[in-house]
Amino acid sequence: MRVPSLLPYSFSDSLAKAARLLRRSRQVVVFTGAGISAESGIPTFRDAGGLWEAFPPNQFATPEGLAEVAMASPRRLADFLTAAFGPLLAARPNPGHLAIAALEKRVNVTVITQNIDNLHTAAGSSNVHEVHGSLFRRMSDTGKVLGPISTESLAEMVAKLQDTKDVSFARLARALRPLWGITRRGSYRPTIVLFGEPLAEPDWTLARNAATTCDCFLSVGTSGEVMPAAMLPSVARSAGAPVIGINPKRGDSSVFLQGPAGTVLPNLLEAAFGESPLV
Ligand code: NAD
Repeated sequence: MRVPSLLPYSFSDSLAKAARLLRRSRQVVVFTGAGISAESGIPTFRDAGGLWEAFPPNQFATPEGLAEVAMASPRRLADFLTAAFGPLLAARPNPGHLAIAALEKRVNVTVITQNIDNLHTAAGSSNVHEVHGSLFRRMSDTGKVLGPISTESLAEMVAKLQDTKDVSFARLARALRPLWGITRRGSYRPTIVLFGEPLAEPDWTLARNAATTCDCFLSVGTSGEVMPAAMLPSVARSAGAPVIGINPKRGDSSVFLQGPAGTVLPNLLEAAFGESPLV
């Protein structure tokens, strides 16, 4: 059991400690959740006012729930997809993503993300495992990855979904063709992992290996509630790596840095290496 510290929390003490840990490391894992992309304008789902309040995950994040909503209320599914995907298509990497990419100049970095937004790669990170898949890749019904989906075709899809008040199932299916569909060779869908589905491979296996072998583990902008990805910080801790947590909400880490990722990550790199990561 972890014993809570009796000392008052000091951000600057924690920053100095985290900077020392980072400076000494050779293999760093950065594990990210929806919070890393919040400052790019993509809302998290679980925070107050998040998507799950209006669109419960048992209906909108499971294959069965989505199929039921599509048949019973195509307009509602169109509203969900517009709310969920619209902000992703307009988003650009923020200083948090850029600082993680810049960390590669100093140490070996493996990024493990639960996000589907492609922003780590867009920021320049070269070793990214997307354990919950990606909005920007399609796969066949046998799990074979079929290739990229362009931002333009997704933006066109979202515009069609917003277009009219009355949406029939057939119209919804037509609009969704860039993502979901059936061809003579079988069906295809985005690689996004829904609740109850196995995590994306080989990303999940590579992510667990990286958590076991790293010497420092940064956990950024994740509530730690989505299993099994949420067990990675414990995997790293059990293998002997310190866990640095970054989140505006207090959490349980070896070292905790309270604040938004877009400010805290550049501060951390500057404290560790003596230069702004963003120049
Ligand atoms: P989550 O469980 O990862 O929780 C979000 C966390 O981000 C919370 O702990 C919150 O305190 C923290 N946060 C909020 N603003 C932050 C900031 N500026 N800096 C750092 N941390 C911040 O995510 P969720 O929203 O419950 O999402 C559930 C699942 O859906 C996850 O797999 C998530 O990755 C995915 N999702 C992905 C995206 C995306 O691709 N950008 C967006 C929403 C949800």
